[in-house]
Amino acid sequence: MRDSADKIIKKIHPEIRSGTKWSASKTTQEAECSLRIKDIMGVTQSNRAGLGSTTNKIFSKEGPKEKRDMVLEEVRVFEEEQRTAVAVAQAKQCAWTKWNDIEPIKLSWKSLIAMEPLAISFLLRSTYDLLPNATNLKLWGYTDSDLCFSCKQDRGTLRHVLSACPKLLQLYTWRHNQVLEIIIELLRTQYESANQQPVTVKQPTIQFDKEGECPVRRKNSEVKQLNGANDWKISADLFTFLQFPAHIIQTEKRPDIAAWSDTKKSVLLIELTVPWEENVEDAHERKKNRYESLRADSIEKNWKCFVIPIEVGCRGFLGHSVISLLTKLGITGQKLKAASN
Ligand SMILES: [Zn+2]
Repeated sequence: MRDSADKIIKKIHPEIRSGTKWSASKTTQEAECSLRIKDIMGVTQSNRAGLGSTTNKIFSKEGPKEKRDMVLEEVRVFEEEQRTAVAVAQAKQCAWTKWNDIEPIKLSWKSLIAMEPLAISFLLRSTYDLLPNATNLKLWGYTDSDLCFSCKQDRGTLRHVLSACPKLLQLYTWRHNQVLEIIIELLRTQYESANQQPVTVKQPTIQFDKEGECPVRRKNSEVKQLNGANDWKISADLFTFLQFPAHIIQTEKRPDIAAWSDTKKSVLLIELTVPWEENVEDAHERKKNRYESLRADSIEKNWKCFVIPIEVGCRGFLGHSVISLLTKLGITGQKLKAASN
């Protein structure tokens, strides 16, 4: 109302009742102050992206609608910061604050309705360590022992049950294969549709930015894998042993998925891990190193080889690597959203 073009509406100052602990007008004022300070600070770099690649909106130069949107976003950031600050102080519920390279799950009403009740329960209770595992049952006073129900050797913590119990290895393999099956199906559809398209080879061009203008972000074409060939084949180590194409290289190693094109001389090795969410970064590095020699040998034989380790956490959270792979293979927008669910 304050920003309205109508003079009468502009004069209306409604009082928003929001309880005693939170005041809408005070929070809005704080958000506006914060945005004005950001204007003075200018663009700051907070990640590893190159200098100049981060662009921020200037609050004072935006129109009324953009200003309102920016204030709303700033309030959301405040709330998120406060939620994180509270969670960090909690012993059990703070696990998610230590996760790196994990995509947050946005639980909208629509997705909640579509989810199985047990799946929602598992997702929430495993995230905040509230499942009835042996250590929790002892903590809550239901049992005297906190030993794992399956192996009876180690403490039955959530981490032990979901990713480290020697008696549950078969279950972990089943879980891995279930996830792998979904990913294979997604990739197979993409490769099959690529094989039905005519081959288009784009000549590489160098694009220049005009003097004084910010560089335009261009999409990374590193694994625009599907362009330039329509003879893609895909093999997976799921129901049958993966046959790594012998004409590329003879190896004992068997990644979960291999996709290759003979005309493009390009091969993609995908390895899926379902780790404990805190270990996603380590799992990624470990798997990357495992196939490094295979990659080097393929390159020596004039094949382009991409090793792509992907991770889906044992609670069901996707690693950034999964989203990155799907995007590079052309699964974007609504399709990506549907695939992530
Ligand atoms: Zn155990």
